[in-house]
Amino acid sequence: MMAFLNNLFGPLLGSSAMAFISKLNIDEGNLMSSIAIAMTAVSLCESYLAFRQRKVLAQEGEVPPELKNDMDKEKFEKSRQYALDKNMFGLVQAQFDLIINISTLMLKMHVLLWISSELILNKIGLPIDKYEINQTYVFVVLSSIVEVVLNTPFKLYSTFVIEEKHGFNNQTLGFFVKDEIKKFFLSQVITFPILSGIIFIIKAGGPYFAFYAWGFTTVVILVMMTIYPVYIAPLFDKYTSLPEGELRTEIEALAKKLDYPLTKLFVVEGSKRSAHSNAYLYGFFKNKRIVLFDTLIKGYKSADATEEDKKNGDDKDITAEEKKKLEEKQNAKKDRGCTTEEIVAVLGHELGHWKYSHMVKMLIITEVKILLFFILFSKVLNSKSLYRAFGFSKSQPAVIGLTVILGNILTPCKVVINLLMGCLSRHFEYQADYFATTLGYSKELGASLIKLHVDNLSFPFNDRWYSLYHFSHPTLIERLRTIAQYKTKKTD
Ligand SMILES: [Zn+2]
Repeated sequence: MMAFLNNLFGPLLGSSAMAFISKLNIDEGNLMSSIAIAMTAVSLCESYLAFRQRKVLAQEGEVPPELKNDMDKEKFEKSRQYALDKNMFGLVQAQFDLIINISTLMLKMHVLLWISSELILNKIGLPIDKYEINQTYVFVVLSSIVEVVLNTPFKLYSTFVIEEKHGFNNQTLGFFVKDEIKKFFLSQVITFPILSGIIFIIKAGGPYFAFYAWGFTTVVILVMMTIYPVYIAPLFDKYTSLPEGELRTEIEALAKKLDYPLTKLFVVEGSKRSAHSNAYLYGFFKNKRIVLFDTLIKGYKSADATEEDKKNGDDKDITAEEKKKLEEKQNAKKDRGCTTEEIVAVLGHELGHWKYSHMVKMLIITEVKILLFFILFSKVLNSKSLYRAFGFSKSQPAVIGLTVILGNILTPCKVVINLLMGCLSRHFEYQADYFATTLGYSKELGASLIKLHVDNLSFPFNDRWYSLYHFSHPTLIERLRTIAQYKTKKTD
């Protein structure tokens, strides 16, 4: 569903693109080859950046001075290997995606899926309704199945080969399969009413449908933001209230000091999935919550995990090798995580995002993008030649315009928007870091950032252009140096 929504709302348009679409009588062959060229060009640029990054990963030889105390040579080499493995995986997947995308376009696979949806409806005896909602839905289900088939091998490899090799994977194959099935069905269930609503508005909304569709989407986003953390996320992971103690007291004191209306404080058992750690805030108005990953908290153990350890300890049947592996994993776990002061500093940063209204600002930008997207879509919907170019000469299904046509012709725009959003996001991260330093946490924030990076085996060096293009956060070294500057500025 997220991929679908991203396709739907991700892109933004320029006024020139709009003029281009409404004016032109599109030449089918030209348009298809232009899109294929644009796709290839974007993919080539991205691969070039990945190679630049690879060179940095392979060459940098010394642990940076900022990390001397926390990252020994062995960890440094481990993080290099992890980064190199992920880099190669990304490169292979990108080439595969490019081949799939271009062949989908050239072979007009969407037409095949659209016709198949009609055949399936006929077969099960469902009518094709006036608004083509039935057929749209079958089309979306078929597309999701194709997507799952294409993506699952990569997900399996990433989880059970790469993450496993570097000691991060905590999932069993059974857990993975159950999780994927749950995700698939849930996303179909959520997509149905949303998609039906949008298609109905497009078909029945008259000349100003773009504005109504925008309003509807806005409501959907707000509803999803409200129900997702409360009803949907708990279907996948276990959330428990953070037990009373020093950490809880400190976090509540910080929230109180900043007038942050904290109502619930959760720990999520992210460790069931992976050893990577994180923390986040969510909620509207006076009903805010904080979630900490159990992997973030040094020495944290849920009631279940304590039981499990006992069982493993009692188990006489395990071989010496298995026992050694288990012990290694438990020792690694013991070293991971942040102290109370460091976690409070991380939350100081997160509360900075709240104080500067970063979430609201991002939401406003998303709203503008969606409105422009629907206005552009209203032009696409009326362009018979554009539909013809994508292989739809008899009908102009709305879902094809929304996902296939706009998704493809906006490829170059997406790159520019992602770049700008990355810049904005990194700016917000600096602001949040600054906020945490004004609370007096510069030392602890620095320490926690180092801890998180070392725990997550992030390689401390990155290619400048690669990080500008891909990273939503400044690099660790950039952040540490900037935090040190904020600190000296304050003491001046
Ligand atoms: Zn942040």
